[in-house]
Amino acid sequence: MTIDGPAGAGKSSAARELARRLGFRLLDTGAMYRGLAWAVQQAGIPPEDGAPLRDLLERTTVELAGDRVLVNGRDVTAEIRTPAIGELTSVLTALDPVRDKLTPLQRALAAAGGVVLEGRDTGSVVCPDADVKFYLDADIETRARRRRGELAARGVDVGLDRVREEVLRRDRQDMARSLAPLVRPPGAVLVDSTSLGPEAVLRRLLEEVERVRCCTPP
Ligand code: C5P
Repeated sequence: MTIDGPAGAGKSSAARELARRLGFRLLDTGAMYRGLAWAVQQAGIPPEDGAPLRDLLERTTVELAGDRVLVNGRDVTAEIRTPAIGELTSVLTALDPVRDKLTPLQRALAAAGGVVLEGRDTGSVVCPDADVKFYLDADIETRARRRRGELAARGVDVGLDRVREEVLRRDRQDMARSLAPLVRPPGAVLVDSTSLGPEAVLRRLLEEVERVRCCTPP
């Protein structure tokens, strides 16, 4: 199962709850990319496709352990959630070696089955043959307000105008890149969460999963 969509559409909580309800494993692919970005930031190397980046990628391991993100065995779950890491991640994820490192890893983890993948390219590139694919979206004001709320909950206080600008910039970067751009994958069910709370979104996802399950021969 895959859930893709832009920042602030409510993917994270929807994917987490969907996985919990189905007893599936959650693969937060954005968190894996953020983990790599954290390693790049720590190493202080330029975020461009060059030998230092390739060397670093070779030496770096990223693992998801439950809801924790481990980079070279170190728990970086809290540290990867800053606006600076989000911005660096968006730049790095446009580069070949970065995607070449994580896409096969995500496919291997998904191959076990019983997985909800969440990200920007999980239904288009990582698992185009997933049983059920979703594209979660919402209007820009709603997404900016949600993003601001998420940041505030982590003690980061940023004005709405700045958050809106950052979300729009990230949309542009994620949608315009030539490599695995953010798109609504073919066959994905569109869920617009603009006027839906988390419960209603989850209900909508579960309805669709039920519909597909009962129409698919075992
Ligand atoms: O979802 P999250 O905000 O954690 O993702 C951070 C960034 O990682 C996104 O803006 C996007 O650039 C990148 N990303 C990606 N492909 C994915 C997941 C995330 O390019 N499958």
